[in-house]
Order: sequence, then structure tokens, then C-alpha cells
Amino acid sequence: MSTIDGLPPLREVIKTHDLVAKKQLGQNFLLDLNLTAKIARMAGDLSGSDVIEVGPGPGGLTRGLLAEGARRVLAIEKDARCLPALAEISDAYPGRLEVINADALTIDPTDRLTGPIRIVANLPYNVGTELLVRWLTPAVWPPFWDSLTLMFQKEVAERIVAKPGSKAYGRLALLAQWRTEARIVMTLPPEAFTPAPKIHSAVVHLKKLNEPRYPADGAVLARLTAAAFNQRRKMLRSSLKGVAPDIEDRLIAAGIAPTDRAEDIPLEGFCALAREVAK
Ligand code: SAM
Repeated sequence: MSTIDGLPPLREVIKTHDLVAKKQLGQNFLLDLNLTAKIARMAGDLSGSDVIEVGPGPGGLTRGLLAEGARRVLAIEKDARCLPALAEISDAYPGRLEVINADALTIDPTDRLTGPIRIVANLPYNVGTELLVRWLTPAVWPPFWDSLTLMFQKEVAERIVAKPGSKAYGRLALLAQWRTEARIVMTLPPEAFTPAPKIHSAVVHLKKLNEPRYPADGAVLARLTAAAFNQRRKMLRSSLKGVAPDIEDRLIAAGIAPTDRAEDIPLEGFCALAREVAK
């Protein structure tokens, strides 16, 4: 069977290189190249961008990114078994794919790339949220990346885009929505993956905002939201008691009733409270 890029179909690649999926590495592979090209298109126009891909595995999404015209792809894969399959893709796209055999949590690949940089990944579920939080909380803003297009468990994706008053609303929503435009752009059933996971998945596209939506100190906002959502359903005057002296006065000054609960406070309110607490 032939494919759009002339490389073997992914099922064959997996068989040739004996890539039996390892659960501890979160390996659920996408084998449909039409689907991976579609995910790559969700990242926007790739032709003028360098792309960081975390966890290329046998290379389905990598091939989608390259076929959709990414200027360069830097792929970070922890599992050395995948390297021969990825080397075949490098050969088919000379000079456009670099593969690093490393744990994405321990390396900083940014000096190897030129902007604009987009991050696109079918993330291993065990490290996905941690990587997202790191990308959303750099020491300086704007960050090195322009957009993140990431596959998550559907339940995590819903937490990223959640609105106040919903069950999914919490720290992840505030962190993401403070400085990015975050949308779910695709949902996928378990059968889209091999092996099929138990859960549904979703792709979230986060586009960075150059300025935060509302002014606030990031560290104060993080401290506030951690305390506020640590004790869901409690009134803010009690969950935030340890955060600052006179917290009731500061809540009122920020336009929040001390008896309100964290899950009902919009981003704007948390930012106003962060400014009051920082005074
Ligand atoms: N991108 C491929 C696809 O879409 O078919 C594979 C996705 S699979 C869900 C996750 C990939 O991330 C696996 O190839 C796994 O080996 C790799 N991985 C897991 N933990 C990693 C880490 N800490 N750093 C880099 N890669 C990791």
C-alpha cells in the first residue's frame, strides 16, 4: 500500500521495528496519516514555523507535520526503540527533521530553533499536564512559543477550556485562559489509537496572547488559585485565610463577596484579587 509521503504505512513501520506499545510510556499510537495531517493543520500555517514535537513514537504525527509543510521539526522521544523508524522519516525529508533521544521533562531544546515556534504533540498522558503547566508559566512572558496544539485526555482538555461555574473549572483553566486563547479543536474516540485507550481524547489549541488578559503578578495568582481550589466548595474567606492578612477586606476591594466559592469566580475576579493581595 502506498502513502502520501512514499514511506511505508505506520502498521508496517511498527511491525518492521517491533514497536510493541509500552503502557508506562503512555504509548497509544495514531496510525491514520489523514488524521495526523488534520491535527497538523489545526496548528495553523506551518510553512514559516519551526515545530517542537514531544513523543513522536513511530512518527505518524511527525509525518503529518512534515507533509503539511513545517519548516523544521525537532522531535523529542524518550524511547530509543523508535529512533530507526524516525531516521527513515529524516531521510525522506532531508534537513527538516531532527530527533533527540531524551526525556522532554529534562531538556530545553529552544536554542536549536528559530521563531516562530509552534509546539504540536500527541502527548504521553503521564507527562502532558506537567509539560503544559511549564509552557504556560515561563519566567518571562511572552514565551518562546507562538501556539500549542496538544492531544490530551478529553477530561483534561475540558479542564483547560472550562468556564466559571462548571465542574471542570479550576487552576488549569485560569492558568491557560489568563495568557492564551484556548479552544478544543477536535475530539477523538478511543479507536483512533493503537492500542485503544479506555478514554476519549481531544486536541486543544492554545494561542499565546502577547499581554495577559488582565494584569496580575503570576506568582501571586498561582498562590491564590492553589489555595482557593484546594478546598473546593468552601467559602473564599475561609479557603484563603492563610494567603494574606485582612483577606475579607481584600476580597471586597476586588469586588468578590467573601462568602463566594472559587468555582464561581471568573478570571477577571482572581486577577483583581491578586492585585489587592500584592498591595
Ligand atoms: N506521536 C505518536 C503518535 O501520535 O502516534 C506517539 C504518541 S504516544 C501517545 C506518546 C509518545 O511519547 C510515545 O512515543 C512515548 O514513548 C513518548 N514519551 C513518553 N514519555 C516521554 C517523555 N518524558 N519525553 C519524551 N517522550 C516521551
